[in-house]
Amino acid sequence: MAACDVCGNDYDRTFQVNIAGSQHTFDNFECAIHALAPLCGHCGCRVIGHGHEVDGRIFCCAHCAEHHDDSPSQDVDEMSKESFPSSDPPSTWSSAGQSNS
Ligand SMILES: [Zn+2]
Ligand SMILES: [Zn+2]
Repeated sequence: MAACDVCGNDYDRTFQVNIAGSQHTFDNFECAIHALAPLCGHCGCRVIGHGHEVDGRIFCCAHCAEHHDDSPSQDVDEMSKESFPSSDPPSTWSSAGQSNS
């Protein structure tokens, strides 16, 4: 039994993610994405796929990678470390994992 790092849910099927030498515990993938997925350096959405890395910055797609010089609105490296943004991410990905059950 372990509690989720994000929501604190004490769940018997939590899983651990080791990243950059630190271990995190989550009760579901949504919490893991919330905590660990980098933000696109251009549009700010969560990058949960392979993404595109340009000059050490992560982008969600080739389009955003091409425009990475346009609007350096936020420091992605800072955002992706350990911070949990208070604002909810765009809901576009939340429905992606739902399958017909
Ligand atoms: Zn959780
Ligand atoms: Zn993007």
